[in-house]
Amino acid sequence: MRKVIIIGSGPAGHTAAIYAGRATMAPLMFEGMMAGGVAAGGQLTTTTEIENFPGFPEGIGGWELMDRMRQQSINCGAEVITETVDAIDLSKRPFTVTVDGTEHQAESIIIATGATAKRLGLPGEETFWNKGMSACAVCDGALPIFRDKPLVVIGGGDSACEEATFLTKFASKVHMLVRRDEFRASKVMGQRAMDNDKIEIHWNSAATEAKGDEFLSHVEIENLKTGEKKTLEANGLFYAIGHKPNTDFLTGQLELDESGYIITKDGTPETSIPGVFACGDVQDKKWRQAITAAGSGCMAALAAEHFLTSR
Ligand code: FAD
Ligand code: NDP
Repeated sequence: MRKVIIIGSGPAGHTAAIYAGRATMAPLMFEGMMAGGVAAGGQLTTTTEIENFPGFPEGIGGWELMDRMRQQSINCGAEVITETVDAIDLSKRPFTVTVDGTEHQAESIIIATGATAKRLGLPGEETFWNKGMSACAVCDGALPIFRDKPLVVIGGGDSACEEATFLTKFASKVHMLVRRDEFRASKVMGQRAMDNDKIEIHWNSAATEAKGDEFLSHVEIENLKTGEKKTLEANGLFYAIGHKPNTDFLTGQLELDESGYIITKDGTPETSIPGVFACGDVQDKKWRQAITAAGSGCMAALAAEHFLTSR
């Protein structure tokens, strides 16, 4: 039996592993095998350069950063297994984690399975992904290829409004494509986007194709009411159409919100079950950054250690 099993291998899971390992808890991590459609190492493995993770003034590749975190977890005493957790049983102690038919038991569990940014599967998406197309404007918006260029954001929620507003710091113009004739976003966020001179909102509109040469240069759009088609000049296309938290394997055993995110007690990694902790994007639909995920991974490991020693 393990003191702690960590499920998931992004910045949250690895930071939890580093702390739990150093606390001699001998953590076992299941890093996943393309779980949620993402490689072990998490969402950062789907991007190129990370410029906002402290300690890397020249930036660092997403893969390299995650490789380094993995190595650090192992150096600190974690065992990392490249398997996806299929199910967990939190109804009795010790908890049971089932992986490919084998059961593993643990006194505490840290869930760090992240979330997957939804994609549209547009024609051209595979070609221009990371070459102008991204699912994270806050992460990629400041890259030189987007400076003083026209950009497109798809979505009408708080993320889309926030990201479009953020992008106006760098872009010459931002087009927002909203599929209905109103925002889903809160009034204040929507109004901020509408009041911004650099943002043009295309209501009832959808992208139909991403085009370019080596990099994205144009986006074809269509008005869903009138059928009118247009070509927008665009060096960037950002999806902001929501995320799906990787919680299917929990099968209702923990309290989740209406979108499937794990509910944690405010400012803590504590879930609805004592001894089960959650960190990173699987419990955070607002900040969604590597550093915030890492910070909450640290909290989860410290909370697990406290839980185990205070029983
Ligand atoms: P994730 O990174 O989502 O990792 C979770 C891992 O758990 C995945 O590998 C998944 O496969 C695995 N997993 C899922 N289910 C299971 C299971 N059942 N069993 C085992 N394993 C499982 N943030 C920044 O700070 N800077 C950036 O520049 C930046 N760029 C980004 C670019 C893109 C394109 C995207 C999509 C995101 C970017 N982000 C960036 C956001 C950042 O990647 C996330 O906030 C962060 O990775 C969240 O970390 P996490 O540990 O919560 O989970
Ligand atoms: P949401 O699910 O709230 O919004 C997604 C948006 O994308 C909607 O406008 C939706 O349209 C649109 N969309 C979904 N699928 C498609 C598609 N296939 N094609 C075109 N458009 C599509 O996600 P968010 O990420 O914006 O927000 C998630 C949560 O995080 C919310 O609770 C939000 O309030 C919160 N948040 C808060 C922030 C803040 O307060 N600063 C910042 C960011 C997020 P439709 O409306 O028609 O369904």
